[in-house]
Amino acid sequence: MTERILDYLRTRPSDGPRLVVDIDVVRDNYLAFAKAMPDTRVFYAVKANPAHEILELLAKLGSCFDCASIGEIEMVLAVGATADRISFGNTIKKERDIARAYERGVRLFAVDCESEVEKIARAAPGSKVFCRILCDGAGAEWPLSRKFGCQPEIAPRVLELAHRLGLVAHGLSFHVGSQQTNPKMWDEALASSAAIFRELAERGIQLSMVNLGGGFPTRYLRDIPKVQAYGQAIFDSLCKHFGNRIPETIIEPGRGMVGNAGIIESEVILVSKKSDDPSEPRWVYLDIGKFHGLAETIDEAIRYPIRTRHDGSEMGPCVIAGPTCDSVDVLYEKTPYLLPFSLEIGDKVLIEGTGAYTTTYSTECFNGMPGLRQIVI
Ligand SMILES: *Cc1c(COP(=O)(O)O)cnc(C)c1O
Repeated sequence: MTERILDYLRTRPSDGPRLVVDIDVVRDNYLAFAKAMPDTRVFYAVKANPAHEILELLAKLGSCFDCASIGEIEMVLAVGATADRISFGNTIKKERDIARAYERGVRLFAVDCESEVEKIARAAPGSKVFCRILCDGAGAEWPLSRKFGCQPEIAPRVLELAHRLGLVAHGLSFHVGSQQTNPKMWDEALASSAAIFRELAERGIQLSMVNLGGGFPTRYLRDIPKVQAYGQAIFDSLCKHFGNRIPETIIEPGRGMVGNAGIIESEVILVSKKSDDPSEPRWVYLDIGKFHGLAETIDEAIRYPIRTRHDGSEMGPCVIAGPTCDSVDVLYEKTPYLLPFSLEIGDKVLIEGTGAYTTTYSTECFNGMPGLRQIVI
C-alpha cells in the first residue's frame, strides 16, 4: 500500500473500478532484481502489465523484454527499446509472426519441440533459440505446468536440430510456476539444465544461456521471501550444478516486477443474505470480478488482500462475487473471506497486489461493462 496511491484515490474520487499503479514501486522492484542478481539480465514479462509508462520506465532503466506476440513486440519497440533487447518467448508462434518479428530485428526465440525449430529455421534464419524444459510447478500458487516445455530428455534433440538447421543453439529455459514461494524450486531444473549442457557439449554443441523464467512472487496475504533469498538460492544451485562454468543467465519476472505496484479501488454494490440461517455467509457483490481483472481468483488460487474503511471492527465470513450475470463470476466461496460486519453498500474497498495480471485479463464490454481502467502515477 503506497501513500502516493492512497493520496491519488483520496484527492480524485471517481466512479470505479480503477487500478492505480505507482511507477516508483516498479522502479524499486527492478533495482532490487538487478541488485539481488547482478550477473543476470532482466527480461520483463510484458504480459503481466503492458502499460506504456511501465514499459517506458523499464526500457530507460535498461531492462530487456520477454514478449509473447507481435502485439507485445510492437508495444516494446514503441517505447524505444531496440529489437536486440527482445525475446520472443512464447513457444507457440505462427510462422508468419516469427517472420514479422525477424523483420523487426528480433533474433532470440523460444522453442519446445522440433516443429517449432523448423518454423524458426525457415522464418528467422540464423537466430538464437533456447529450448524450454518442463517443470512441475510444485510450490507455485499459479502453476504453469504441462502446456509449455518438453521433457528434459527431448531437449538435446530439439537443440541439435536447431544447430543442424543453421540456428544458434543458445540455451535452455524453464518456469518454476508463477507465485513460487519456495526459492529452492529452481534447483531441480538447474540440475537438468546442467546435464543437458554436458550432453550437448559431448556432441560438440556449446550452449551458453539459461533462462531462469519468472515465478518471483508478490506479497498477498502471506509473507514471502525477499528477492535476495531467490538470488542466493539460484546462485547456490548454479554453482552446485555448473561448477566454475556458470552460464549466462536471464530472468523474466512479471508478477514480481509489478504485482505490488498496483491497487484496485472497487465499490460494494450489494451485501445480501440468502437465507435466515445465521451460519450462512453474507454475499458481497463488488463492481469488479473474474471478467474485469480478477481472473486469477480462478480456483481461488490467488487470494488478494482486501481493505475496507471498517478494518479493525468485527469480521465475519463472506462469499465475494463480481457484478456480471455469469454465475462463475464468484471470487471466493469455497474458502469464505472475512470482511467486517459493518461493510455497507456503496463502501469502497481496496484490493491490494493487483498490479500484475489484471488489466490484461479484463474483458471489454461483457454485460456492457468497460474493461478495467488503469492509471499510472
Ligand atoms: C508469464 C511468463 C513469465 C512471468 O512469470 P511471473 O511468474 O509473472 O514472473 C515469464 N516467462 C514466461 C515465458 C512467461 O510465460
